[in-house]
Amino acid sequence: MGCVFCEISKKEKPAYIIYEDDDIMTILDINPISKGHLLVIPKEHHEGIQDTPVKTLIKAWVTASAFAKIYRVNLNAPGVNVVTNSGSPAGQVIFHFHVHVIPRWDQDGFKKSGRHQLNEKEANEVINMLSNHIDVVKDYLKQL
Ligand SMILES: [Zn+2]
Repeated sequence: MGCVFCEISKKEKPAYIIYEDDDIMTILDINPISKGHLLVIPKEHHEGIQDTPVKTLIKAWVTASAFAKIYRVNLNAPGVNVVTNSGSPAGQVIFHFHVHVIPRWDQDGFKKSGRHQLNEKEANEVINMLSNHIDVVKDYLKQL
């Protein structure tokens, strides 16, 4: 079976891409926990955090940190979770290393099993919400 994140990185499968460069991409989670739930994904395939080269880890976490800043500072989210899951018991579903950035809004109704399916209206709202702030990501990555 193929890897869905590799397929997305090769443009063989569609995704809502928020940011992309030669070695990393940030997309919308199709089953978001909250509005704006992002996945930061290195294009190179590595199964989990334990398999991923340090340089790639740094770029992924710095990118995730920039999006956390956008949510907390630019968009006034009262909270944000930045997390990676490694292995099935930890909740990893797609075995290609990625970092979740999950903004927390007041009354976002967070429940561990409370994910919903992303629709086009919500996706476009998030894309619009983030589009003016991508310079934060570029500025972070410039400092690597
Ligand atoms: Zn992959």
